Amino acid sequence: MSPEEIRRKLEFYQDLGFKEIYRRAPGAGAGGETPLPRGRGSEPASGGTEPASGRGSEPVSGRGSELLSGRASEALSDLVLPSMAPAGDTLEIIREEIGECTRCRLHKGRNKLVFGVGNAEAKLVFVGEGPGADEDEQGIPFVGRAGQLLTQMIENTASKEGIPLKRPDVYICNVVKCRPPENRTPEPDEMEICGQFLFRQLSVIKPKAICALGSTAVKALLGGKDGVTKLRGKWHKWHDIPLMVTYHPSYLLRPYNQNAKREAWEDLKKVLHFVYD
Ligand code: URA
Repeated sequence: MSPEEIRRKLEFYQDLGFKEIYRRAPGAGAGGETPLPRGRGSEPASGGTEPASGRGSEPVSGRGSELLSGRASEALSDLVLPSMAPAGDTLEIIREEIGECTRCRLHKGRNKLVFGVGNAEAKLVFVGEGPGADEDEQGIPFVGRAGQLLTQMIENTASKEGIPLKRPDVYICNVVKCRPPENRTPEPDEMEICGQFLFRQLSVIKPKAICALGSTAVKALLGGKDGVTKLRGKWHKWHDIPLMVTYHPSYLLRPYNQNAKREAWEDLKKVLHFVYD
C-alpha cells in the first residue's frame, strides 16, 4: 500500500469518527482487537431455503460483509482497525457524522440526502439501491412509483398473511444516500464510501432479518458475482443476520416482468413469516 493510499484510508476512517488505529505487531494475530469486517472468502454463498433459527446462530452461508472491495481490504491487511460500528453508535450519530456529505461525486447533483426512514428498532430492514428523483426531492427513501409498490407489497402481503404490519414498522434505506445522475447504477467507489454508513445503520438497528432489493443491495451486502435471479428466494447472511434477496420494485414495475412480481411476493411472504410469526 502506497503512503498516499494509507493517507486516504486514514482520512476516510477519521471521517467516520475513528480516532485511533493500531498497527499490528509483526507476526502477531488479530488478538483481541476487532478487525475491519471483511468477507470471509470468495466462495459463492449456498443460500438455504430456511433461515438459521434466529440471531446469534451459525451463519447459513459464510460470505458476510463485502462492503469493502477485495483490493481495499487487502490493502488494509496489515492494519488492525477498530470495529466499523463505534461503541454507542446511534442512527442520530451516524446521520450527524454524514453531515452535508461531500465524500463522493454524488453530492454534486443532490437536492436532499436520503438517510433512511422507519422504526429505529425495526425487526426488518429493506435495503434499496439509491434515491430517485422523488426521494431526492423529499429526502425520504422509496416514495416514488417504486416506493409506492414497495409499500403496497409490504402492507398487502402482511395483511393477507394476518400480520399486523405497516410501512412505519420497518426500516427502509439505500446503499447510497444521494441520487446518482440520471438514476444510473452507483459506482463501486460510491458504494464503498456510502456503504460504511449502511453498515453502521444495520449494526445499530440489528434487525431480525434484512431484505436486499435488487442487485446493488446484493452486491453491497453479500459481494460476489451472482445476480438476483440466482440468489433470490433463499436465505443468506449479512454477518449473523439472515438476509433475503428479492427483486427491486422498479424491476417489477416493468410490464413484462409479471412473473417476477409473483416471485417477489413469495419472497416477501417468507421474510414476513420468519420475522413476525
Ligand atoms: N429506488 C431505490 O433503490 N431507492 C429508493 O429510495 C427509491 C427508488
